[in-house]
Amino acid sequence: MRRWIGILLVVMLLGGCTVREQTAQETVFAMDTVMDLRLWGEDAKKAIPFMKEEITALENTWSATKQDSLVGRLNTGGAVLPQDAHSFLQRAEELWTRTNGAFDPRLGGYIRAWGFYNEEYRVPTETELQQAPAQWDLGGIVKGYAGDRLTEILDTLDIDRAILNLGGNVQTYGEKPDGSLWNIAIQNPVGGEAIGTVSVRGTAAVVTSGDYQRFFEVDGVRYHHIIDPKTGYPAESGLSSVTVICRNGLTADALSTALYVMGLEAGAEFWRQSDDFEAVFILQSGEIYATEGAGLSGCEYEVIFREK
Ligand code: ADP
Ligand code: MG
Repeated sequence: MRRWIGILLVVMLLGGCTVREQTAQETVFAMDTVMDLRLWGEDAKKAIPFMKEEITALENTWSATKQDSLVGRLNTGGAVLPQDAHSFLQRAEELWTRTNGAFDPRLGGYIRAWGFYNEEYRVPTETELQQAPAQWDLGGIVKGYAGDRLTEILDTLDIDRAILNLGGNVQTYGEKPDGSLWNIAIQNPVGGEAIGTVSVRGTAAVVTSGDYQRFFEVDGVRYHHIIDPKTGYPAESGLSSVTVICRNGLTADALSTALYVMGLEAGAEFWRQSDDFEAVFILQSGEIYATEGAGLSGCEYEVIFREK
């Protein structure tokens, strides 16, 4: 009898205090970058290996530098496409059309000519660029797509919320328990403190493309990795970075690259004709512009309104 009372007491005590929420954190090196995964919920620890497996699978499939990746095989004579790969390439093509070619998933020939694949950077000649073959390069969307795929995995498990930093692509998942927003810092393209934060509720992607992320210099000229598909040269749109906030990671990633190519004016006009994203533009001059729904705070900026 006394034992039973003891057990009852323990049960009551346990019931009285809140069981601490499970958390997990993991750093993964993949897709040429550092990824940070933070999860809360009953299955937080269990989710990590599934997520790592998915990241590796996506990298092996979509890497432009691995000879035996699906992209490698597509570019050198065709490959049979599994259904999910087919839908991914189809999404890439839709975004190519939607952005009027500013996002171009077939500019691999240019990326290769500039030496970004093997890191033997060089300035190609006009002729080389003109003759560069059309080759698949999904580098502009694979991290955003990974964000979407990872949240699909989280949906199948008992996860309350998560924040995934996939090499500068931030993917949030779920609501914070106190109902507060996720605050995501936007990097200053010239270094130092973040310029400010954008706040998002629930599941969303916050993706930045910038000229400071990957570049090389020759004779004092900076050549960065976002290419204007119309010229084959690094885009010179007067921007330093573009951040896109969108419910869908793949769309966010394609649009951040595309808006960088378009520049502020065309980018703002593109936003006015869309209803699925918000954006923050940082100019090379240091000026900041944000669309009216971007939720940017912590800095001064010009608001881009829907009605001009
Ligand atoms: P990051 O990968 O640094 O986060 P982005 O999402 O902007 O930045 O992707 C840049 C990558 O996308 C390049 O490394 C290249 O592989 C590819 N890319 C560059 N320019 C374009 C473009 N105009 N359209 C589509 N893909 C591009
Ligand atoms: Mg991108």
